[in-house]
Amino acid sequence: MAYPEPLEALIAAFERYPGIGRRSAERLAFHALRDREARGLAQAIERAYKQTVRCSVCANVAVKDPCRICADPERDAGLIAVVEEPRHVEAMERSGAFKGRYHVLMGAWNAAEGTEPEHLSIRALVDRLAQGGVRELILATDPDAEGEATGLLVAEAVESAIHPAPLITRLARGVPAGSSLEYLHRGILEDALEARRPLGPPRGRS
Ligand SMILES: [Zn+2]
Repeated sequence: MAYPEPLEALIAAFERYPGIGRRSAERLAFHALRDREARGLAQAIERAYKQTVRCSVCANVAVKDPCRICADPERDAGLIAVVEEPRHVEAMERSGAFKGRYHVLMGAWNAAEGTEPEHLSIRALVDRLAQGGVRELILATDPDAEGEATGLLVAEAVESAIHPAPLITRLARGVPAGSSLEYLHRGILEDALEARRPLGPPRGRS
């Protein structure tokens, strides 16, 4: 072990974060040691951890359960947008184009990165839909390979468990392939929502 144990522990802690390798973790750890504000950072993490909860309805991170959006009677409870991450909720809220509610999967299906279907809040979504009252589910996962696979996984889980299943749609192709929802401009998101399409061929026909 090259560094004193407490420093090594801090480096190891940073290294567990997505996209942070050993070198970045070392840089962050040394920066934190020099930084007069490091104690503030530690407190901020502690506070964020203690003062947020997961919404028991939509699985988003919130200060209260249910979250502000799930508790808002003005939001259409019959329309649910399924997104990968809380930051995608923020993006859609910033666009102002969506008046329904959300379900946050907390990730995308990515076996290579160790995210398996059971890590996503799909079970909670199915339980939520089983209570009835939802007429449309909009798959608003990222338009990349993981997002597509995740959307199909959600659709399959819902259609095999809920009869009759709500209409399942996906954001229109106005969303550039491979992009992330969070970087879309208001206009693009509005168009993609407006032109959303039913998933797959119409069912109930031969
Ligand atoms: Zn909620």
